Parts: sequence; C-alpha cells; structure tokens
Amino acid sequence: MTVTEDLVSYEDALAAYDPVMGLEVHVELGTKTKMFCGCSTELGAPPNSQTCPTCLGLPGSLPVVNAVGVESAVKIGLALNCEIAEWCRFARKNYFYPDMPKNFQTSQYDEPIAFNGYLDVEVDGETFRVEIERAHMEEDTGKSTHIGGATGRIHGAQHSLLDYNRAGIPLIEIVTKPIVGAGAKAPEVAKAYVAELRELIKTLGVSEARMEMGQMRCDVNLSLRPIGEEKFGTRSETKNVNSLRSVERAVRFEIQRHAAVLSAGGKIVQETRHFHEEHGSTTSGRIKEEAEDYRYFPEPDLVPVAPPREWVEELRAGLPELPRVRRMRLQAEWGISDHEMQSVLNAGAIDSIVATIDAGAPADQARKWWMGELARRANESGTDLAAMPISAAQVARVCALVAEGTLNDKLARQVIEAVLLGEGDPDQVVEQRGLAIVSDDSALGAAVDDAIAANPAVADKVRDGKVAAAGALVGAVMKATRGQADAARARELILERLGVQG
Ligand code: ADP
Ligand code: MG
Ligand code: ZN
Repeated sequence: MTVTEDLVSYEDALAAYDPVMGLEVHVELGTKTKMFCGCSTELGAPPNSQTCPTCLGLPGSLPVVNAVGVESAVKIGLALNCEIAEWCRFARKNYFYPDMPKNFQTSQYDEPIAFNGYLDVEVDGETFRVEIERAHMEEDTGKSTHIGGATGRIHGAQHSLLDYNRAGIPLIEIVTKPIVGAGAKAPEVAKAYVAELRELIKTLGVSEARMEMGQMRCDVNLSLRPIGEEKFGTRSETKNVNSLRSVERAVRFEIQRHAAVLSAGGKIVQETRHFHEEHGSTTSGRIKEEAEDYRYFPEPDLVPVAPPREWVEELRAGLPELPRVRRMRLQAEWGISDHEMQSVLNAGAIDSIVATIDAGAPADQARKWWMGELARRANESGTDLAAMPISAAQVARVCALVAEGTLNDKLARQVIEAVLLGEGDPDQVVEQRGLAIVSDDSALGAAVDDAIAANPAVADKVRDGKVAAAGALVGAVMKATRGQADAARARELILERLGVQG
C-alpha cells in the first residue's frame, strides 16, 4: 500500500494550527457472562459455541442486564470523577451489519450511566486534565473474518465468516470532551490519557484492558483550527487504534495531514479513517458528512437502571487506591525525583519494586536491583521486566544477603544471574556456587600472606608508612579470591601483618 497523503512537517503544522482531540475508548469488561444473556465470555472457544437466542438476536428472546456489568460501569464512572445517573435506560442503536444479528446494538444514548468527569494525566512532569463527557454501557458485536482478499478486509474477499462469540460481550465506552490546550503535546497527551485509563481499569479489576487483544481500543478524533480561532475545525475519526504508540502516531499523522489539506486551501471531509501500523499513517474509510441517523429509541425489553445512592456510595468507598495517587505516594515514600519515578514507570518496574519492598527489602535497594542489573538483563534479552524469571522474594533475599555481608554487589550480580538461569533460590545458589564473601581470617589470611609474598616492593612501601599502597595488595587478594574476599577485612589483615596502623 502506498501513502498518497501530503503531509506538512509537524513543526510547521503546529506553528499555524491548534489541535483539538476527542478520544473514544471502548473497554471490554472481564465479566464471566455477556451483558444481556448468560453466555460465557471466555476467549478461545470454537466459533459460535458461546451463543444463545438472545445474543443471536432471535425473535422472541429477551435480554436481562448483567449486574456485574452495571457495577463495573459505576466503578469506572466513579474512578473518572463522574456523576452517576440516578436513573438511565438502554437504547437501541439501529443499523444493519452482518456481525450484529439483532440489527441494532443495545447501547446508551442520551442517558449514559456516568457523565461529566475528568482524568488527570502527567506529561513531562506537568498535569493535564482531560474532561470526560460520558461513560456508557453497551455490547460488543460479533467478529467477521474475510477470506480470499489480499488485505483481510472485505474488499476483494471471496467470502466471509462470522463468529458471534463476541456478540453481546459487555463494553464500556468512555468519551472525552474536546481536548483543547495540549498544543504540540497533543500526541503525548492522547497517549498518556489512554495509558492512564488502562492503568485505572486494571486497578479497578474490571478488565485486563489488553490493547493487543482488542480488550481496549481507541477511536481518535482530531481537528485543527487556525491559532487564535475559537471555532473547532472539521474532525476526522481514526477508528480502532489498538496500542499506546499507535494512538500517539495517529494523532501526529492526522495533525500533519490536516495541516497539509488546510494550508493548501482545501477542506477536511468528516470521515472515519483506518490506522496502519506499518506506516504510522491513516487512510480514508467511510465518509460521515452528516451525523448518521441511528433512529435511537429506548430499549423496551430492559428495565431502566436506577443505581441506589447508598450502593453508589458503598462502591465509591470501596474503590482501590487509584494509579496516580499510588504513584505519588510511592514517589514520596521512596524519596525520589520526578525523573527517577518516570524511569521506574518507563521500565515497568513499579509493581516488582513494591513487591520486593513488601518482601522485606529497603526501597533504595529494591529499586537499585530492578532498575539496574535486572532492567539491563531484561533489556538485553528483550523480556518485560515483570516477566523475568526471578521473584520479588528472591530479589529481596539477595538484598538481605548483601546487607548482612554474605554477598557484595559483584557476588550478588552472580547470584541473580544464577537465579535467572534456574539454579534455585539465592541461598541455594550461594551454597552450590560457593559465592559467599570470604571473611573468616584463616582463609583470608592465607590469601593475604600470598599477596604480601608476591609483592615485596609494595609491602615495603606500606611498612615505610605509605598506607595508600596497601590498595594494590587488597587488589591482589580480591583477584586471588575471585572477588569473594571481604575487602575491608583483607585490608585490616594486610596492615596488621605489615605492622602499621590503619
Ligand atoms: P460520534 O458518535 O460521531 O463519534 P461523538 O460526539 O460521540 O461523535 O464523539 C466524538 C468525539 O470527538 C468526542 O470525544 C468529542 O469530544 C470529540 N469531538 C467533537 N467535535 C470535535 C472536533 N471538531 N474536533 C475534535 N474532536 C471533536
Ligand atoms: Mg465516534
Ligand atoms: Zn447469549
């Protein structure tokens, strides 16, 4: 596929225009059953094995709302600082699509369960508030697979397969108000928002929010207005962007593309667009010149949802500590800078460090090993830090062995290497590899005597009072013991043997 779009440079685009964004994020809830029937939501089942008359939209079937789905929606709304509707209904969004056998999607329209909230996100150490328009409940569609075409799209395909296992899986759609004021940081703000939202969803335990699995996907709306202009420009809507990096790239690309069209005197067409991972570009989808008329009307088969206030307050009180608050607390507890905290987050090390501290290690030590040796090894082997084959308890034990003087840093690194190789717990490794520091005087004494005998000139200097020269003898002892000597004790013994005071 060739990219035919003209672009202007990002800098030139931002010099003339102010970007406005709107992000619509769909989250698949992790409920056991579907939103309006009892079918399983388990992934990986054979096609169409998890369906029933309701999620297949057969005439006469009746939906029943999933209580956990509603509870999850309220929790998300509360965590996003939204108001929770006292009373709201589902609505039918009417359209025909083969993967939606009812010919309408059960959604919410003018009565979302949660509305008017915000989410604060951090970009380059600054807080940016993203306002939330609404969070509403709906259901996912089935999945079409187009066979025989080159692109996997319906165009050029010979036939299509339909799997309705996904039809009716609960979705929460979270829609922002127009995001203004991000300027040149718009791509980063978009990415930070989706990242923060994903953390929040995971912390609430309502979904695993794995974007690569389609459990969370983002539609990116973008428009430009000339700098100084109040009125919003015409937007494009890039659908189903499914990684954080792609969200950032889609915003950046659309800014450059819109700017090229506008600065050439052209008009942006309101349309949906597809994002292409390989090129970081978007191409035209479906023109949406006028708002589509979905003939929304209240769903007559479902009772209204009226969450009692006491229940909402109970859920509010039971919310876990939210990611941003937790990050700020940990940063203060660990006494580290914004920059250091950012490195911890970028490395994906936060949970590992916390678990290591919980297992008894001091914060600075836990951070040192995860951000140093382990991050380096993870990086070399292309593994996620959290997936490294060493447990927090094992790292904490290494810290303890260093603190009690059994290991120095060099030996500790060898112990970590051995644990990663599957040689067992740190204590076993120390035992099997004989890695403990040699500090008992008889074993050390022999190495000290050898070092003095092998370096008579240095020994004489030390005897004559040049105490600093003893460093060379300590070095010889360390070398002879392959780094396992207790260096401080070796130095004491050397000075003692040579009859000088340390
Ligand atoms: P639709 O259902 O057509 O996608 P919505 O109004 O539900 O429209 O959502 C559009 C999203 O785009 C919202 O996040 C909204 O804040 C945002 N938005 C609306 N107008 C603009 C605009 N001119 N430029 C950028 N974003 C916009
Ligand atoms: Mg939309
Ligand atoms: Zn069903």
